Amino acid sequence: MIRNTVNLNKEKRYAYNIIKKMVINNDGIIYGGMVRDEIIASHYKQKFDEYYRDKPDIKYSKFWDNDYHPESNKRTLIPNDMDIYFNNNESSQSFLWSLNLHNTRYNGTMYISDCILYSFDQNFIHKKINIYYRIGKTFCNNGYRIKIDIDMLINNNINLNIEPPFNNADFSCNIFIMSKIAMNKYEIRLSRNTGTKLDKMSIVDKTKFTTDILTNLIDGKTEFIRNIQSDDSEYMNGMRILKMLNNPFIKITNLLFKEIDYEKIDNICDICQCSFMEDDKKNQPLIKIMTNKHAPNLMHKSCFVQYLSNEVYKKNTNPTTNEIECRCTRRNLFNFKKSYKYSSLYL
Ligand SMILES: [Zn+2]
Repeated sequence: MIRNTVNLNKEKRYAYNIIKKMVINNDGIIYGGMVRDEIIASHYKQKFDEYYRDKPDIKYSKFWDNDYHPESNKRTLIPNDMDIYFNNNESSQSFLWSLNLHNTRYNGTMYISDCILYSFDQNFIHKKINIYYRIGKTFCNNGYRIKIDIDMLINNNINLNIEPPFNNADFSCNIFIMSKIAMNKYEIRLSRNTGTKLDKMSIVDKTKFTTDILTNLIDGKTEFIRNIQSDDSEYMNGMRILKMLNNPFIKITNLLFKEIDYEKIDNICDICQCSFMEDDKKNQPLIKIMTNKHAPNLMHKSCFVQYLSNEVYKKNTNPTTNEIECRCTRRNLFNFKKSYKYSSLYL
């Protein structure tokens, strides 16, 4: 009997890799979460390869088994979506043409929609691309669906020479980009437009800072560095922070709250009022809020994320300043917009 199993994570990574090559070969730039995840995944893949090299009895197919060699399980990280940038419309059209051809070949269904850009001016066109593939389909099996999400920005101003993240980086781990060095070849490098002091540093200082950021990233740590001061900045900051809180591998280190791993604390959650020792809520990660230095309060991470998303979506406006503000569970101001000041990239 011929047996063929489908590994969805592996398929998804391959699907993204094919599109990644198309972007690169059409002179596009990839930025954001995909670059960050590739930095982490390649580091841990190397650790796995080193381990595997000394174990000739083990099959390499164990690579996708997360329970196997858990020390390097971030090797199987798959990006949730893809952020791409083209410096001109011709390159983006040529990319879409290749993508269309690829989708026809693999029966992909593609939807492209125009979007309005928050916090950017008229210099960019923003499109969202969603692609659906069905893989592993046979006469008696419907197969599985794979969804690919792409955010595409296109430069609309020929006089503008800028690259992602367009002097508007949100986290220190998102300042790296992938760009072409030759056909089918790319490099991961620091962006020239991070918007932080890195952009003007000498090569020596820049290398030192970059090494620190990468070391922290491998350890699962990052800083929130978004420094855009506008009336709705607290709303945008909240959205970015909520997205990062969803990432199980990365903790934000410079905010007024911090994530702590579960520890034996005989205390109650500030939100749901359940004890941290209660059986069904045991082992959950916790959040410590430090808006009041003298009385930090603790809560379940899941309770806090729910609370924070309600708070962010409410868009509460301060009547005096006319700015959107978030408040902690004890109604103290959060002030995400000042967090960048506590980052090593601004200190
Ligand atoms: Zn709780």
